[in-house]
Amino acid sequence: MNPTFLQTPIDYLKGVGPNRADLLRSELGIHTFQDLMHLFPHRYIDKTRYYKISELERSNAEVQIIGKFTSMKMVEGKGRRLVATFRDDGGQMELVWFRGHKWIKEAIKMNTPYVIFGKCNYYNGKFSMPHPEMELLSEHEKSIRSAMQPVYPSTEKLSNRGITNKVVNGVMQTLFMEAKNHLFESLSKPLVTELKLMPKREALFNVHFPQSQEHLARAQYRLKFEEFFYIQLQLAFKNVNHKTKIKGYPFEKVGPIFTTFYNDHLPFELTDAQKRVLKEIRHDLGTNAQMNRLLQGDVGSGKTIVALMSMLMALDNDFQACLMAPTAILAVQHYQGLLELCKELNTSISLLQGSTKASERKIIHEQLENGELDILIGTHALLEDKVKFKNLGLAVIDEQHRFGVKQRSKLWHKNEYPPHVLVMTATPIPRTLAMTVYGDLDVSIIDELPPGRKAIKTVHRYDANRLKVFKFIRDEIALGRQVYIVYPLIQESEAMDYKDLMDGYESISREFPMPEYQISIVHGKMKPDDKEIEMNRFIKGETQIMVATTVIEVGVNVPNASVMIIESAERFGLSQLHQLRGRVGRGAEQSYCILMTSHKLSSDSKVRLETMTGTNDGFEIAEVDLKLRGPGDITGTQQSGALNLKIADIIRDNDILKVARSYAWQLVKDDPKFEKEENQIIRFMYAQMMKFKNIWSYIS
Ligand code: ADP
Ligand code: MG
Repeated sequence: MNPTFLQTPIDYLKGVGPNRADLLRSELGIHTFQDLMHLFPHRYIDKTRYYKISELERSNAEVQIIGKFTSMKMVEGKGRRLVATFRDDGGQMELVWFRGHKWIKEAIKMNTPYVIFGKCNYYNGKFSMPHPEMELLSEHEKSIRSAMQPVYPSTEKLSNRGITNKVVNGVMQTLFMEAKNHLFESLSKPLVTELKLMPKREALFNVHFPQSQEHLARAQYRLKFEEFFYIQLQLAFKNVNHKTKIKGYPFEKVGPIFTTFYNDHLPFELTDAQKRVLKEIRHDLGTNAQMNRLLQGDVGSGKTIVALMSMLMALDNDFQACLMAPTAILAVQHYQGLLELCKELNTSISLLQGSTKASERKIIHEQLENGELDILIGTHALLEDKVKFKNLGLAVIDEQHRFGVKQRSKLWHKNEYPPHVLVMTATPIPRTLAMTVYGDLDVSIIDELPPGRKAIKTVHRYDANRLKVFKFIRDEIALGRQVYIVYPLIQESEAMDYKDLMDGYESISREFPMPEYQISIVHGKMKPDDKEIEMNRFIKGETQIMVATTVIEVGVNVPNASVMIIESAERFGLSQLHQLRGRVGRGAEQSYCILMTSHKLSSDSKVRLETMTGTNDGFEIAEVDLKLRGPGDITGTQQSGALNLKIADIIRDNDILKVARSYAWQLVKDDPKFEKEENQIIRFMYAQMMKFKNIWSYIS
């Protein structure tokens, strides 16, 4: 491929223009010609077949028919609509529009052959089609047309602004006209020949404009293979070059701070899983290679103590440590928790956040630089340029998916050598997946909860049973407990979601009136300060009910909260439901999670709800989630840029992954510097990719 041409900003494509370019950028992340070319259809409509009206059946999904308009009339009254009669040689049917009447009346040519496409309804012995796609037969025959019609990913905003699938299709055609002389092969000859891969240009063309099912299948195979191949190539490349390159400070001894804490101040016996994970970390820290470890553990599995003890190992070896949390509330909670745990130790711990006063900041900066400060806890504020450690030995990052890769890499370069890094997450990625995807990123797993926890009871209730749920809330509050009520907030329907939230808040305020009940509300549109005030009222127990959107998802610890109500639970993904549920069950009391839904449930929603009521095991849930959604969606992997798959799917295309993996690793083994003539194309592609891509490997 010709990278310079394909890096042309999307604004310069005919038919796009500044408004559409802005929308494509903000809604789909399409900045360049190349991005657009890699916007792959997520499904195809089979338009190989033309139906006769007499052949229509009630079970048909979408159908395509050739015929003519013979009459048109407005039907007034409730549900005012424009109705046209559409005929072919064997029969007739009705086409119906509820909107856009004026435009349609003007545009349609009577008694001229059209191709229409859409979903048919059957009513009173007649077929009708609402809002069909229409095209003059003469136009239909002219356009670049393929048997399988691509359907592109879209958003509500895009279709509202007139960027329909048809528009995207048109733009894609223009792009191919312009780009066709700039598309070159991107895999080596031996690979293409040996695996009988479809050439690149043909594959791209067929994925957007498939000539047949067979062409499409081969095109997809080729592109998926390539996608996996280059990811695997990076992993293989790193694997060969990594261990020798990145040095780390070895923590050679287990010293008095760790030992004193372990022997005298541990507030509880560690679980076997915690012990095992600590051993793994200690082993890494003892070598002179930089540790880059992902610590996975379900909510409440006790990651914090592992983090602390790892930090103590750093202290014992005369290094400093830091712990970075995604929100101020969490940073404060960590700070208070660690102060408590370390109160008998002679360690200095400080908290740095956005709101830290200048005078305090100055002291912290000084103490960091002269080494008086051992542990710094904070938010993004830790990444400010002024924060300079004397010798940072270990950086712990809690809930990695809230941090971008770039932000993390900043922390690295505070020192001459990179510190060891421990990333903690409660979003489980199944181990098999982590290994194939991250290759050499080490993973530790706490797969056991501390003893004595009462399993959270999860039930599913329909909206119709709301009164009973309210009564349950009242009873729990009477016992002194606190309650979360969470509403969905999906970007695509943000405005409606806020309305739902506010409506919900009002009805709850009516049901639980002041002064007997106090209610907090937290959502993303509030100012951070207000959010914190509301959150703290709940943490302190001043309010009994917390009404919120998913902003409370990560990490918040209110042990007295025992009920989690999730409204419109069918709209949440599994891992999100599990995260939310993890906000309760943190105290000694029996906790409950109530999933509220309407009666209308898709089959996927049903699986999600059944999974939630059936198990509390985060890994089991992650496996189901993976099957339902495909791994591209897993929080964290997607956002960290680690796994930005455009066409392939780790689960569904696992066989292709295996082939790609074996070829990539073999290639790096045979030609580790890509010196062979035949591999020059790969060398070039690889260099391009590293230039344009924000990849996980940058941080290690
Ligand atoms: P998470 O993994 O979600 O960050 P935390 O580290 O916040 O979990 O731990 C959750 C709770 O469990 C805390 O109150 C912590 O003190 C407690 N805890 C952690 N480990 C143990 C253990 N081995 N035995 C008993 N309680 C523990
Ligand atoms: Mg935690």
